[in-house]
Amino acid sequence: MKVLHQIDGSSGEGGGQILRTSLTMSMVTGIPVQIKNIRSGRNKPGLQNQHLACVHAAQAISKATVHGVKKNSQQLVFQPNAVEAGEYQFKIGTAGSTALVMQTVVPALMLAGKESILHFEGGTHNPWAPSFDFIANAYLPMLKRMGIDIEVKIDRYGFFPHGGGRWSAIIKAKTAMQRLEVLERGDLLSQEAVISASNIASHIPQREITALASLDWPKDAFKSEWVEAIGAGNIVSLRLFYQNCSEVIESIGRRGLRAEKVSMIAINLLQQYLSAKAPIGEYLADQLLLPMVIGHGGVFRTSNPSLHTLTNKKVIESFTDQIFLFNKIEKGIWEISL
Ligand code: AMP
Repeated sequence: MKVLHQIDGSSGEGGGQILRTSLTMSMVTGIPVQIKNIRSGRNKPGLQNQHLACVHAAQAISKATVHGVKKNSQQLVFQPNAVEAGEYQFKIGTAGSTALVMQTVVPALMLAGKESILHFEGGTHNPWAPSFDFIANAYLPMLKRMGIDIEVKIDRYGFFPHGGGRWSAIIKAKTAMQRLEVLERGDLLSQEAVISASNIASHIPQREITALASLDWPKDAFKSEWVEAIGAGNIVSLRLFYQNCSEVIESIGRRGLRAEKVSMIAINLLQQYLSAKAPIGEYLADQLLLPMVIGHGGVFRTSNPSLHTLTNKKVIESFTDQIFLFNKIEKGIWEISL
């Protein structure tokens, strides 16, 4: 057996991303990995349902041998075999984020040479994770610029706490991959404010739309839709489409949070993104590192790198001799290149 690469899951940001990135890098390099102290500093440390789903998904596509994979476990061993394209079902029994499962397997499957079809069941619009709409409108367009073509379709939304969302992704067989280059946003092409709701009082989305009026966007930029979901759910999603990139900024409604406040949170986050001036938002920045290292590298500008981005850089680099350069261009603008 090859020597196990050691990862300390408590280092840097110390969250689930260390686990997910380690699984992905292990699959694409073939290097078996042992991860210790998984999420040891978190409220509920160790592997929770969402993380178990990521390990099981990685195991399914790479026929990996695994040890230590059970609820709350803070260490595991993952020894992958060759990644196989195919049709897979990944189900999280809870509202855990299915987008994070997708991001674990996509970089490995995009190298597998053939088309894959993935079916997900679980959470689709979670706090602290990319939503389905962020994946569709911010993450995938960047992958497309890198030559990776993925189509997604949602059938049912999965909000916390019921989950039960259903969606699928078709990862097209790769043709030629390209270097990513996003230095400027370019012209603003369009903007959208989409309020999605299920099984809640109709005054809530109406009040959210009213509270977005200060955006001063064209009337037809505002949309309110009832979506199918198992339980109650609500999200305000602000989307900006530029020539060279896009950004999706979201605020999730919940019991006890006034509708006006849900919209205000989204507006404040939007202002932060707009005033930062860099094209790639904080969240997308950490998510682009893996496809870049697995694809043909690239360069993008973003605001001050988050702890997630800095930690992801370290975990990725521990598996390869490729190094990301982080250069400060001016106050609040950084250039990340590989
Ligand atoms: P972790 O906390 O380690 O499980 O990682 C969370 C992941 O979700 C990171 O890749 C974040 O960039 C991403 N993320 C968190 N919140 C958002 C958000 N509002 N929109 C998009 N991505 C997000």
